[in-house]
Formats: sequence, C-alpha cells, structure tokens
Amino acid sequence: MERPVNFSAGPAAVPEPVLHRIREELGDWDGTGASVVEQSHRGAPFLDLAARLEERLRRLLGIPRDYRVLLLQGGAQMQFAAVPLNLAGEGGSASYVDTGSWSSRAIDEARRFCRVRVAASSEEDKYRSIPSPEKWKVAPGSAYVHFVANETIGGVEFHEVPAPDAGGAPLVADFSSNILSRPLEVGRFGVVYAGAQKNMGVSGLTVVIVDEALLDRAHPLTPTVVRYADQARADSMANTPCTFAWYVAALVLEWIEAEGGLAIMAARNDRKAARLYKAVDATDFYQNPIAPACRSRMNVPFLLAEKGLDEAFLDEAREAGLIGLKGHRSVGGMRASLYNAIPESGVERLAAFLSDFERRRG
Ligand SMILES: *Cc1c(COP(=O)(O)O)cnc(C)c1O
Repeated sequence: MERPVNFSAGPAAVPEPVLHRIREELGDWDGTGASVVEQSHRGAPFLDLAARLEERLRRLLGIPRDYRVLLLQGGAQMQFAAVPLNLAGEGGSASYVDTGSWSSRAIDEARRFCRVRVAASSEEDKYRSIPSPEKWKVAPGSAYVHFVANETIGGVEFHEVPAPDAGGAPLVADFSSNILSRPLEVGRFGVVYAGAQKNMGVSGLTVVIVDEALLDRAHPLTPTVVRYADQARADSMANTPCTFAWYVAALVLEWIEAEGGLAIMAARNDRKAARLYKAVDATDFYQNPIAPACRSRMNVPFLLAEKGLDEAFLDEAREAGLIGLKGHRSVGGMRASLYNAIPESGVERLAAFLSDFERRRG
C-alpha cells in the first residue's frame, strides 16, 4: 500500500529513502554491531558522522570559514533565550521585527534577558504581510536585529535577505521552517538558527550558524550548554548531544545532495507552492489571506468558506491518503506544509483533492 502524503508542520515528513536507511541500519550501524543510539558520541564512528554532517552542511549552504556550526538541543525556542544571552551581553539591547506568532514569542522571551525594541510589526495588518525593511526602526546601539524568516503558523515568508538601516548591527534569523529549502547567503547574517524537525530530520537538534566575531559577547550568567563560545570550543559536545537527531540530519543532507542540492530543492519548492496557491486561489471556497508577495512556500494555511466542513475535509483527506492537514489551533482551518520531503506528486494529489472536495461539498 502507498504511504499517505504527510503535510504535518512539524515534526514533519522525513524523505522516504531516509526512513528506509534508518530502518535498515538501526540494529547494526556502520558495521559497529550496535545501533547509532547505543554508542558513545566520542567514539570514532560517531565523530566521523559528526564531521561529515558539518562538512555537508557547509557545502550545501556555502557557509563561510569564519562561521561556526553548532549542533545544539533545546529547539529554536531555546535560541529565543540563547540569542540575547550570547549577543546582548549585560544590559544590552536588541531590535526585533514582529511578523507573527514565532516572532512574538521570540520577543517575549528576549525581554527577559535584554532591552527589546520592536523595529517593525505587521500586527496591525493581522500579520498578512511583512513590514518593508527600509522602514524598520532599528534602535541605535542594538546588539542585533532579529527576524523570523518563515512564520510557520501564519504562512508568511521573507523571500529576500532584508537590508535595513541597522547601523552595523548583525542580522539574526530563525530559519526553523525554511532552512535548506533554497540557497542561503549565510555571510549576510550574524546568526542563523533552525530546529531540525521541519526540514532537517527529527526533533532534538537545533543548528546554530554563528559568525566567529560574535562569540565573545555572552552575558556572564549564560549556562555552559547555551553559550556559543563554550559549545564551539567543545565541537557542540559540551554535553551529550541528541545522537539520533544528528544521525538523521546527516542522512537528510546526504539525500539533498543526491537529489542535486539546494537549487533543485528551491525549484521544486517554488513549483509545489505555486501549484497549491493556484488551487486555493481558483475558488472562493478556499481562502489564504496572505499578501501574495509574502506568501510562504513552506506552510500554506487556508480556510474553508464554510467552517462546518472542516471535520469532513480532514476525514475525507485522510481517506484519500492526505494527512497532517489540520491548521494550527490558533488559526483554525487547514495548513499544508510543503517541506523538501513532500514530492511534487503529493502536492498534485492535494490540489486534485481540493477541487474534488469542492465539487462534492461546495
Ligand atoms: C517550529 C518552530 C519553532 C519552535 O521550535 P521548538 O523546537 O518547539 O523550539 C520556532 N520557530 C519557528 C519558525 C518554528 O517553525
């Protein structure tokens, strides 16, 4: 039987060949006689995996030499605290851009650690657009300017690296839900971070890519496992890493390279998103309220014109082999997440289901 297409927002679908590899290798990994989760993270086989993982990530993203790659725990939300702790020092301030749920949460958390200035917000527009970077009011003396590259819940995405007048403050961005979905100019950022469970494997790993020049700015009370400089010195093993998540990430990166790399991913993701938005826009039966230029390629929320049909939609979608479509509890309706692991044929099936459901129920 064919597996259903899984549009879950996160933890999300993992490429099928990666799942097969995991199953095959789980009992005896790399000829070691033990599973990857049953051995020391300081043993030669695992250190070799770690080296290959970092090498692949550097190659795929073109990470400059003077950036460190940290593989941490705690999720992106730990970074909501780690970023101000590491970059704003004692009594520092930072500027934040508010484009939706994840930005707001990052702002609330940062307020516990530094002075926060909201440089721009699209709240008045109900988070349907992105405030133009030329108009961001970055506070003088900001340690950094933070934004969320893709709002996973609202479905709003930056399609270019913003170039605000930031007075030299580095950009820091949460790429949890769109990392590896297209090429990225890492060199334009001070810090890029992303949880792995959307586009890089499973939960338990957060990748933090940080400009070396920013490693000496931490607040003195920053815990060791959260402090970038300490983790950089320890090759991300200041404490025991989530070895399984590293292992899966290594397989996912290998799969992306075998598929042709990030330019290929980007082209596919563009086509997938275009196909689904076209289906949603084709009728008033479905609605996505986001300004077209800011629509996310990764997360497509949509409402049914008749709310009473939500349950029927989800039930019938499941029967048609389409799962994970229930919208975030704060938004309602539906959300289809189109990460790298979702094949174009899966989006085609979803688009066909949309018009079929409307024909029967509209
Ligand atoms: C999923 C997500 C998070 C939360 O990640 P956790 O693993 O729960 O910490 C943060 N930011 C964005 C943009 C996300 O998509």
